Amino acid sequence: MSCSSQKKQYYTQEEAEEALIRSQIRFHQAALSYYLCDECAQFHLTSRGEKHPLLSQPQVVERIKNEQQLQDWSDRLRRK
Ligand SMILES: [Zn+2]
Repeated sequence: MSCSSQKKQYYTQEEAEEALIRSQIRFHQAALSYYLCDECAQFHLTSRGEKHPLLSQPQVVERIKNEQQLQDWSDRLRRK
């Protein structure tokens, strides 16, 4: 189903959570949360509002930190 928000749609909460975490790893202006859209009945990410509690869970914080470090390393290697 199309949606006037033009945002990427996630079919399940798990997908939305994964996308939220990846956004945190990759972007400085990362998405903070996800929500269930009234219009298309799928999940979208949003950078507005409260930070999702998922992002404060220790294992998630740890994963974001680790993957950011890995990403730094691969960026550095690629530049050589
Ligand atoms: Zn929508």
